[in-house]
Amino acid sequence: MVDFTLTDEQKALREMAHDFAEKEIRPVAWEHDKDGSWPQEVFDKAWEVGLMNTHAPEQYGGPGLDFLDGCIIEEELSWGCSGITTSLGANGLAAAPVALGGSEAVQAEYFTDLTENRSLASFCLTEPDAGSDVSGMRTTAVRKGDKYVLNGSKCFITNGSYADWFTVYAKTDKDAGHRGISAFLVHKDATITVDKKEDKMGQRASNTATITFNETEVDARYLLGEENKGFKLAMMTLDRTRPGVAAMATGISRAAFEMATEYSKERVQFGVPIAMHQAIQFMIADMATKVHLSRLATWHSASLLDQGKPNTIESSHAKRFAADSAMEVTTDAVQVFGGYGFIKEYKVEKLMRDAKIMQLYEGTSQIQRLVIARETLLPRRASAPAAATA
Ligand SMILES: Cc1cc2nc3c(=O)[nH]c(=O)nc-3n(C[C@H](O)[C@H](O)[C@H](O)COP(=O)(O)OP(=O)(O)OC[C@H]3O[C@@H](n4cnc5c(N)ncnc54)[C@H](O)[C@@H]3O)c2cc1C
Repeated sequence: MVDFTLTDEQKALREMAHDFAEKEIRPVAWEHDKDGSWPQEVFDKAWEVGLMNTHAPEQYGGPGLDFLDGCIIEEELSWGCSGITTSLGANGLAAAPVALGGSEAVQAEYFTDLTENRSLASFCLTEPDAGSDVSGMRTTAVRKGDKYVLNGSKCFITNGSYADWFTVYAKTDKDAGHRGISAFLVHKDATITVDKKEDKMGQRASNTATITFNETEVDARYLLGEENKGFKLAMMTLDRTRPGVAAMATGISRAAFEMATEYSKERVQFGVPIAMHQAIQFMIADMATKVHLSRLATWHSASLLDQGKPNTIESSHAKRFAADSAMEVTTDAVQVFGGYGFIKEYKVEKLMRDAKIMQLYEGTSQIQRLVIARETLLPRRASAPAAATA
């Protein structure tokens, strides 16, 4: 029997996260958006209230929350600001391959450092010439004795300028395409340089940088999983993190929907609030439906993970639908505001700029369609279509 009722604990989590978004994130989000500055004060408060490293296991000092809990929190924080939320959550993206492939000793070292020393971590997959096509990466890792030596550059790395740790994908077999990729946990040292901080259209409070590894030595014990099996680890990681992106997209849509609904009740044209005009009512109705369905798809993909079940197609459904919906809902919200929607003072335009990245990072909307088509046409799970609806 499927029950969408939140437990009391989940309701308390949602309330706490919403309170944090309202009191700590929203009051500073537009300022950080204006100058693209790093929201250190929000990080400090998030540490204090336990909103950092939400998936870090309890034995290493983390809250040990499950994926659905994480999505409930991410929707609320993203309702506050999805840029700040992306940066608050980057530790989780970097942590997934460590949790999936790191030895117990490496996991203990990494998670304890994150939870006790407030360290930050970044996930390093994308390169200037290898984005959607991961197999085209050029960063190499050459084994020398009990070490690997890494060389190469990763671009568009969230929190790259501030990270203490990096989970890095590199070629251990240059001629084997995606079957030659391995994953490593790398601690920041002097051989690692931050080359460029990006000036972005949206999510301007989130830091995005190019990171270069120059003859960076990594002990072999920091290999995550097996050599040349890094691509699978990356795909398993994205199955775990795409529900979170869908949750963030839902948060953006909800913020835009609420702003447009309120404005439509206040703004009077032709003698009545514009909410009385059917064309506006239909826009509001479509926004409400997209928020609702984005959340349901998100919760479904996360709850499958919590049940230990495969969720590849469901996480792509959720990410693709919620991301595209966020762009549609924020565009319509600006439309409801009319010319005022185009004016920064009215705040809704930021949501439209922030929403765009949801269709790009962690696999673009086109790549999600490729995954969904592949899972539908060549199902790996015998009863994939049935399981998806069961
Ligand atoms: C703000 C920001 C933060 C990011 N954070 C991180 C991070 O922390 N770590 C990290 O590793 N990466 C990160 N990324 C990178 C992000 O994941 C990539 O930008 C994304 O995967 C797309 O790759 P690309 O930019 O090279 O676009 P491309 O892959 O060059 O795609 C260009 C266009 O072609 C389409 N396309 C490509 N291949 C196909 C195909 N086979 N079929 C149909 N259409 C296709 C794409 O959908 C897109 O529309 C971030 C990016 C940004 C902008």
